[in-house]
Amino acid sequence: MPSTVLFDNGEHRNILLEDYGHGLAVQANQHLIVHNGRGMILDPGGHKVYNRVLSETTALLKGGKLQYLFLSHQDPDIVAATNGWLMTTDADAWCSALWTRFVPHFGLDRLVESRLKAIPDAGMFIDLGGADLMVLPAHYLHSCGNFHVYDPISKVLYSGDLGASLGQDYIQVADFDAHLRYMEGFHKRYMASGRALKAWVRMVRQLDIEIIAPQHGALFKGKEMVDRFLTWCEQLECGIDLYEGLYQLPQK
Ligand code: FE
Repeated sequence: MPSTVLFDNGEHRNILLEDYGHGLAVQANQHLIVHNGRGMILDPGGHKVYNRVLSETTALLKGGKLQYLFLSHQDPDIVAATNGWLMTTDADAWCSALWTRFVPHFGLDRLVESRLKAIPDAGMFIDLGGADLMVLPAHYLHSCGNFHVYDPISKVLYSGDLGASLGQDYIQVADFDAHLRYMEGFHKRYMASGRALKAWVRMVRQLDIEIIAPQHGALFKGKEMVDRFLTWCEQLECGIDLYEGLYQLPQK
């Protein structure tokens, strides 16, 4: 499984694990943050990648300890393998309080159920080996209980499905306009509303961001590219803005 280092200052590392070519399953990125030998894996994925992501994570931790799983929302490409992760590591898993009673339907053993922790709607800070990671509300983008992680040391904003792109063969966006075709359709249909997007942009513009790293497809690197993406989000009509007309009885 190829990995790319996004940031490394010795005590703090941000690593992207890429997963390409799984037939019908949507391409997904797994992200690992390591601080002082403590690790957090973000959106660790489903059963198809579980074994490889687990062994790669263990290798990248270099004897360190996996402390947390972060689940941005409840989709199967994110939470399906949670039980495996909790059974084979000592990590706690964090997900929206809206989903803590639904994720166990993927088959959480009683033994590990108590290690699935609820993130309140307003977000929170998670202490990873002394690094304060910010958990930001991103509700309705696309899930009604949805969170992003901002890492103030590497200045990476992990944006889950927001910024996702499908079908391109590069991992970093070089030409924003040419990239639009890979994300426009997904955002218009999966993201719930332009109003939610505008409110989210207002919040994240207060942060110093070097990289926006989504869970699917290519990342946005550098202040200029980050700004292009945020400006695009601010004006995008999506979800209910566009699809009110779909509420029609189906015709035979
Ligand atoms: Fe999703």
